[in-house]
Amino acid sequence: VTVFEDGTVELLISKRDLEQRIAELGREIARDLSGDQLPVLISVLKGSALFLADLVRALRIELEVDFMSISSYAAGTAGSGVVRILKDLESDVTSRDVLIVEDIVDTGLTLNYLRRNLSHREVGSLKAVTLLDKAVRRIVPVELEYIGFEIPDVFVVGYGLDFQGIYRNVPEILAVRDIARLANDPNILVEALFGSDGVTPH
Ligand code: 5GP
Repeated sequence: VTVFEDGTVELLISKRDLEQRIAELGREIARDLSGDQLPVLISVLKGSALFLADLVRALRIELEVDFMSISSYAAGTAGSGVVRILKDLESDVTSRDVLIVEDIVDTGLTLNYLRRNLSHREVGSLKAVTLLDKAVRRIVPVELEYIGFEIPDVFVVGYGLDFQGIYRNVPEILAVRDIARLANDPNILVEALFGSDGVTPH
């Protein structure tokens, strides 16, 4: 019995659906971003790296990319919205159109922090795109100009999203139905997803 058959995970968004939706987002965003200044797409490491890579190829316009890295909330501070910048932007964003590229917006705390932080840098315009939106989990209301897919309150892995550092390279989005089982054995999906030749971490 595989992890798919026993209900540990199920396919939520296929490769094809990701491709189609990202192509649509690309057309929509390209129309809105064609100002005279070179726009900057800001990806928040590491989860959004795969989405960024596909999104920029769907945007047939001149653009730059830059990266930020922020700490997850320290133990005990979850929900506080206190975030620390581990790696800041390298580009000067003054007067430019800035697009934050997120993998998933859950409570909204991370994006809310980023929007506030970037809005203090005299940007020309500030918008955000997220591939996945778990709107039902929102703690702070946050503006989101573009949304790939709205998803239910379920933990997802794949297409950049991890569980304890693994599964980012799964090409589709999987919903974890039995999170306790995965927490108990984080490698439990490796065999089913990558075959017996898969490199098992640890
Ligand atoms: P926030 O709660 O601040 O909106 O989201 C914080 C971060 O939690 C996201 O950027 C993402 O890294 C992580 N996260 C939220 N929901 C999920 C999920 O379902 N799966 C994974 N792998 N990460 C998630």
